[in-house]
Amino acid sequence: MTRDVLVCGAGIAGSTLAFWLARNGFRPTVVERAAGQRSSGNPVDVRAGAMEVADAMGVVPRLREVATHARRLRVLNARGRSVATVRMAVRKEIEVPRADLASALYEAASDDAEILFDDTVAALQQDEGGVDVTFEHAAPRRFDLVIGADGVHSAVRRLVFGAEEKFVRHAGLYVGTVSLGEPSDCPEDVVLLNTPGRLVAIHPVRGNCGVAFIFRAPNPGQGKEIVSTAYRGLGWRVPELLARFEAADDVFFDAVAVVDPPKWHRGRVALVGDAASCVSLLGDGSSLAIVGAHTLATALAEGTHSEAFAHYEATHRARVKPKQRGVRVAASMLVPRTKRGLAVRNLAARLLPG
Ligand SMILES: Cc1cc2nc3c(=O)[nH]c(=O)nc-3n(C[C@H](O)[C@H](O)[C@H](O)COP(=O)(O)OP(=O)(O)OC[C@H]3O[C@@H](n4cnc5c(N)ncnc54)[C@H](O)[C@@H]3O)c2cc1C
Repeated sequence: MTRDVLVCGAGIAGSTLAFWLARNGFRPTVVERAAGQRSSGNPVDVRAGAMEVADAMGVVPRLREVATHARRLRVLNARGRSVATVRMAVRKEIEVPRADLASALYEAASDDAEILFDDTVAALQQDEGGVDVTFEHAAPRRFDLVIGADGVHSAVRRLVFGAEEKFVRHAGLYVGTVSLGEPSDCPEDVVLLNTPGRLVAIHPVRGNCGVAFIFRAPNPGQGKEIVSTAYRGLGWRVPELLARFEAADDVFFDAVAVVDPPKWHRGRVALVGDAASCVSLLGDGSSLAIVGAHTLATALAEGTHSEAFAHYEATHRARVKPKQRGVRVAASMLVPRTKRGLAVRNLAARLLPG
C-alpha cells in the first residue's frame, strides 16, 4: 500500500496536502527550498470551500487573529482624487497576509510530517513501484509518490512534464509588491490609483501596509527597474512608494502567469496548487490551492494512486477552469488598458454600494 509521499513545497497547497495525508495514514515528507517560513506578504482571501478545510484543520482562530480589516475599496484618479468607493462584501471569508496563511497551515502540518528546509528535488526517476528522488542536499531516497506543490515555477513539473514555457502563459501583466513596515493611515481602506495600463494599490495589513504595482507590459522580463520605468512620471505618492520598492531587499516581482498543463499527473507524480493551475492574483489561487490539496489527499485515501490522481484532476479542473477563463476580464477590471476602459470601470465602481 502507498505510504511514503514526498511533497515538494511547504506553501499553501503543500502544507494542506501534508496535513491531510498524515490524517489519512500516509507518511508525508515535505521538502522546501526556503530556509524557513516568512511572516508577511500580500493579503489573500480564504473563501467558502477553503474555509471549511481550514476550519477542519483547526487554523481558523489563528487566521482571524491575523486577518486584515479592509472594508472598502477607494478608487483614485491620477491626481489622487477619489472617484469611487466600493464596499467590500462582509462575508464568511477572511482576508489574511499570504505568508501568515502559509505559516498557519505549515504549523498544522508540521507535527505529523517530516520537513526538509533549504533543499529541493534535483532529479526524479520513477518505475512501477516507486520514485527515486535525488535532493540537492539530503541523501537520495525512494518514495511511493511525489507531489509537486512548488508554485508557478515548479521544479517537479519541469523534471517530469517539461520546460516551463510549454505550460505557463504570461497574462500581459507584471506585479511588484513591497511591505511598507508601517500602519496605513486608513486601516479599513484598500486604495487603488489607476492610469491606463498601470495600478498602484495600497492594502492595509494589521499594523502594516503592503503596496502592489501591477502594470501591463508585453514581454516577460525581470528586475526592479521594469517597475520604475513603468511608473515614471506618475504623481501622488507614487515617487515615494517607488523609492521604497527600489530600496527594499525583500520585494516580490514576477510576471502574472496562467499555468495550464494538459495533464496534472504522470505515473506516480502529480501536481497541486499553482504548479498545476495558477491564476496568480486574478483568481482565488489560495483558496483553490487549499481545496485542491484536500481533494487530492482524500482521493488518495480512497483508492489506488492512479484512480486518485484521475479523480482529483477531473474534480478540481472543473473548479479551476471558470477562473482561468475569467482571467482576461479580471485583468481589464483591475488594470484597464485605455482611458476609455478606465472611465467605464470607474463608472461601474460608482454604481456599486459605497
Ligand atoms: C502578488 C500576488 C497577489 C495574489 N493575491 C491573491 C489573492 O488576493 N487571493 C488569492 O486567492 N490568491 C492570490 N494570489 C495567488 C496565491 O498567492 C497563490 O495562488 C497561492 O499562494 C498558491 O499556493 P501554492 O502552495 O500552490 O504556491 P506557493 O504559495 O507559491 O507555494 C509554493 C512553495 O513551494 C516552494 N518552492 C518553490 N520552488 C521550490 C522548489 N524547487 N523546491 C522546493 N520548494 C519550492 C516555495 O518556496 C513555496 O513555499 C496572489 C499571488 C500573487 C503573486
